[in-house]
Formats: sequence, structure tokens, C-alpha cells
Amino acid sequence: MTETKPENKKIQSTGTFKKIMADHFLQMDAAAADPKRKVAWCTSVGPAELLQGLGFEVYYPENHAAILGTIRKADTYIPYANAVGYSPEICSYLTADVGAFLQGFTPLKRAYGIEAVPKPDVLVYNTNQCRDVQDWFMWYARHWKVPCLGIETHRNVGDVTAEHVASISAQLKKLAQDLAPIAGHKLDMDQFKESVRLSQQCSELWEKVLRCGTAQPSALTFFDGTIHMGPAVVLRGMQVAVDYYEELLAELRKRVDERVSAVEDERFRLYWEGMPVWGRLRTLSEQFLELNTCVVASTYCNSWVFNQLDPDNPFDSMARAYTELFIVRSDEVKEDYIARMCKDFHVDGIVYHDARTCPNNSNCRYGMHQRLSERLDTPHLVINGDLNDMRCYSDEQARTNIEAFVEQLGQG
Ligand code: SF4
Repeated sequence: MTETKPENKKIQSTGTFKKIMADHFLQMDAAAADPKRKVAWCTSVGPAELLQGLGFEVYYPENHAAILGTIRKADTYIPYANAVGYSPEICSYLTADVGAFLQGFTPLKRAYGIEAVPKPDVLVYNTNQCRDVQDWFMWYARHWKVPCLGIETHRNVGDVTAEHVASISAQLKKLAQDLAPIAGHKLDMDQFKESVRLSQQCSELWEKVLRCGTAQPSALTFFDGTIHMGPAVVLRGMQVAVDYYEELLAELRKRVDERVSAVEDERFRLYWEGMPVWGRLRTLSEQFLELNTCVVASTYCNSWVFNQLDPDNPFDSMARAYTELFIVRSDEVKEDYIARMCKDFHVDGIVYHDARTCPNNSNCRYGMHQRLSERLDTPHLVINGDLNDMRCYSDEQARTNIEAFVEQLGQG
């Protein structure tokens, strides 16, 4: 008798997703070759809308680094960055990306025929997520001898106050002034507001997509989310992202109405806290399918929800939206957030990914997992691994631990 493996339920909008992502990268490549166009590199939760208001093509290296992880090439290139002084203990997005660059490799070649990542005219970061992004961008700035500018954010923020917003807003205004000579013109306020408006719409739709996971059974999994978040990261501020999420949302709402479950015979519902394990998305997704367990929500996919954006107040609202992010906040705020998410998504257990090279997005190192389990009376599992460096991840250990955890949920 042959055993059939449960299959991931295909999302029909994936065709559109692939097309708009391909168009984006090809357009980026064309812009990089056009001497009249300017390219800005931007961190994934950096001031993209401002850059669009200045007419830059915006490129996101973290997305590139995640692709390296997904196609399992990160391990190949990390050692080349280690060899030029970047520790194996620091962000493996940084080390994979710099290592691949040093070796002249980009996954965009195989996917889209693009020879190299676009050369930046400027690199713009926001330290709201970590300091690694600044170090990462500075490496390229030195390499290409181009400016690297950024926003220095408050960290460990409890309530986001008017003072926080004012200080970040002032930095954004100064950044706009400093970028103008590189862009070749002043900030176009109309374009800036339009980008903020589209970004806000994209964000709202993306959140609605993710909330289709509150349905019982859930209409999508965390693993679907890690793929379909692409436009929220690299196309926010553009109409194409809004159109895409309208299509995806309609498809998922139909699933909800018809009680179509992403995971057949859903028995348990989990929350994923921390970075994805990019090199094991498929393996993990398949294991949870086999266990009839759906990872229904995550902090990670929700990190591109910026609902505070307001086109009528672009500087202050950007300052607020990019400071209210989970990763910027105090442990108390983070715990309240996860508690709310677990309730809204009817979660049976929490999986914490302790990513070796990303302490910034690993929230099980200072007792949060224990405190939350007590508070919510919800069990948790810690998986040791990494976002990109698969030398830190044991397949066997993760598989056994997940199996045991789900079994324990069954004994509930
Ligand atoms: S948040 Fe983590 S994964 Fe992201 S750039 Fe910073 S260290 Fe790397």
C-alpha cells in the first residue's frame, strides 16, 4: 500500500504573485542600467515611502538574503563574509548576502536572468529592527563609495509617546533634505503622500489576509504567509501591491466562507514566534501538515502591518508606524501583543524559534516563553535554529521535538 503525503493547498493567486515579483525585479534591473534613474537600498522596515517620494527605485537586501536562505545557498556563502571579518554569530542575512556578493552570486540570475543586484546611489537604513542592518549597509557603502544614511530609532519602547514620534519625524525630515542632492531634486510631497496612502492600503489588506487565519479551520498557514508577504515588503507604496492583496484576500475569504482548511482535518493551531527557518520552510510545512496542525499566525508576517500610516500627516505617521513595530518594543508590550494574538487566533500552543544569529527576533532568551505559558496556560516549544545558517539547525532534533510537542497537545 502506498502512503500519500498530505499536500499543501495551493493558493491560486500565486500565479499573480510570481508575475508581479518578476516584474518588480526586472524593472529594478532596468532602472539600475538607466543613468537617469537613481537606486536606493532600503531596510525591510525602513523609510520606503520617503524614498519613493524622492523618485528612487527601492531595493531591499533582506529580501535578497531571504531568497538565498530559501534556495539553501546561504551556507555556501556565509563563510566568505566570515573571511572578511564578519562573525558567524552575527546576522546570517548580512553574512549570506555579503558572502554571495563577494563571490558574484545572486539568485536573481537563475530566477529572472538578472546578472547582479542593482548598484545603489545611496543606502538608507532604520535601526528599528537591529544594528546589523547598519553594519550591513555600511559594508556596501564602503565598497561602492556611496553615502549610507539612516534613522536611529529608540529601542525597548513601552508606550510610543509624542516625544518618540517627534524625534523620529525630525530625523525623517532631515533625511529627506540629505537625500535631495542624491535624488537630484527635492521631495515631491504629492508623490510622498501617495506612497504613504498606498502603503497604508497595502498594510490594511495584508493584515486582513493574515486574519483569515482566525477562521476555524484556518484558511492559510504561516508558511503561506512567509511567501505571500513578498509584495508587502518590496512593493508597498505601489498600486500593484494593493491590487495583489485584494485578489489574495478575495480568494482566502472564499475559503473561509466555504470552510476550506489550509491544513486538512486541522486538529491543533499554533503561533510561530521569531524568524522563519528559510532553508526548511517546505520540510516544516510538510511536517505540520502530516500532524494535522496549522501554524495559524506569527509575529513575523505581521511585522509589515503599518496601520498608523496617514497620507495627511506623512512624516509623523511614518515615525509612529515604524516605531510601533513589535521588534522595537519592550518585553511587556511584546507579551501583551502575543497574548492578544493567541486569543484572536484560538491558539493551542506557541513555537519559539531561537534563531542563533538574530537575537533581535528571538524572544525566548529572557524568560518570555515561560512567563507567557503561565499567563495564557498555553504550552510552548523552543526550536533552536537560524533564519539562514542551516549549520545551526538540526533536522532530527526539530522533527522529534515538534512531534513530541503535538503529541503533548493531544494529551491536553
Ligand atoms: S532583525 Fe535579525 S534577521 Fe533581520 S537584519 Fe536584524 S539581525 Fe538580521
